[in-house]
Amino acid sequence: MRAAKIPPDVLAVQRDASDPAVSAWVAANAGSGKTHVLAQRVIRLLLNGTAPEKILCLTYTKAAAANMANRVFETLGQWTALDDAAVDAHLRPQGSRTVLGAVRALVPDRLATMLLERAEVEPSRSLAELPRDERRRLLDALLRGELPWTGDEGYRKAEVTGGGVSLAEIDPRTMESRRHPGLFLCGEVLDAFGPIGGYNFLWAWATGRAAGQGAARPRPAA
Ligand SMILES: Cc1cc2nc3c(=O)[nH]c(=O)nc-3n(C[C@H](O)[C@H](O)[C@H](O)COP(=O)(O)OP(=O)(O)OC[C@H]3O[C@@H](n4cnc5c(N)ncnc54)[C@H](O)[C@@H]3O)c2cc1C
Repeated sequence: MRAAKIPPDVLAVQRDASDPAVSAWVAANAGSGKTHVLAQRVIRLLLNGTAPEKILCLTYTKAAAANMANRVFETLGQWTALDDAAVDAHLRPQGSRTVLGAVRALVPDRLATMLLERAEVEPSRSLAELPRDERRRLLDALLRGELPWTGDEGYRKAEVTGGGVSLAEIDPRTMESRRHPGLFLCGEVLDAFGPIGGYNFLWAWATGRAAGQGAARPRPAA
């Protein structure tokens, strides 16, 4: 669906319905943007800091679920690949949009506020009134601003665990330890890294299934 053809009042209602702070019931005809609203809601939840595994989306068909997931990944992927020209186009005046409104559409709220502070740009200024030097500073903060990390939240919130039992010690068909026959291993206890995005769950489930089947296999009498 192309945003240019959607009437502003519909866009406003869609924006309201995708606000994760409100409870919304959306009833609409096929092709009128329900999946768009749902995907936007998921993206806004993620931007608000909700952990992906805490978001439950129920769809009627697998195709709808795949469509929604694709849209979410596409949007997130586009943001990471925006170049100067694309961000500049995004910041061009559109109606009475404020600078903060435009930047918040690109990055999470708190980050938008921080970047504007850093660029010394008044958040409530309308885009149409943004002088060229402020626009340059803002572009610079958005595209080249460094976000040094100041710490982590400790082991309790760590999402990737390094180390574990070497894969070389495991029979990949049955997940049986080569060092301790009769011991079957799976998931995080093994020395496998998955990038964030579901790969660790997949690894845990796939190896768990293989290990379960391996352990249940009839074994030759000792
Ligand atoms: C905050 C966070 C977010 C994550 N997000 C994602 C994500 O979005 N996508 C993704 O793919 N992966 C994610 N992961 C990684 C994923 O959760 C793990 O890779 C996966 O759960 C590993 O499964 P597992 O069954 O091997 O281990 P676990 O899920 O850790 O299960 C091990 C179980 O064994 C129990 N246990 C431990 N010791 C004993 C004992 N001595 N006796 C009995 N029981 C015991 C534990 O209590 C636990 O229930 C995340 C991890 C964290 C911590």
